[in-house]
Amino acid sequence: MALEDFQPDCARCTALCCVGFAFDASEEFDYNKFAGDPCVHLGEDGACTIHDRLEQSGFAGCVKYSCYGAGQIVVQEMFEGRHWREHPGEAQAMYDALGVLRRVREQLMLLELAGDLKLDDAQGRERSRLIADLDPAEEWTPARLREFDIDGAVAAVSAYLASLKDSVAR
Ligand code: SF4
Repeated sequence: MALEDFQPDCARCTALCCVGFAFDASEEFDYNKFAGDPCVHLGEDGACTIHDRLEQSGFAGCVKYSCYGAGQIVVQEMFEGRHWREHPGEAQAMYDALGVLRRVREQLMLLELAGDLKLDDAQGRERSRLIADLDPAEEWTPARLREFDIDGAVAAVSAYLASLKDSVAR
């Protein structure tokens, strides 16, 4: 995978992150939003109505957020372009898939970056094993994502990256 593959493509998503996730009023978000409620700043056209002034409007959390390309995969590949507005019965499954696939993609991106380090054979093999776990030959589906031990996968990648400290120092 190339790093460009982790770029969000909002034009091919349906603003799933602005609907599916909850946020709490804080320095990052200006109000309390429940999961599944569209953000009050989400326009009917699916675009953020305050996109050009997110930080000034109290939504620094949105500026920092990335789905690492998960949004477009969930919408286009898993739900064949269907929109949560027109398919409310599938909306929760879309949000759930995004929640897990976003974490999968984040770990894959970290492993991609680790490929730039000078890895020995064992480190390289372990990296490949972790990537295969997160990017299996059989494509992700909502059902497979539901069954996947994402917490375990994140812990395994964290442990692996921590073990590379010496490689970084080289
Ligand atoms: S402020 Fe804009 S980017 Fe942030 S959740 Fe609301 S609609 Fe989405």
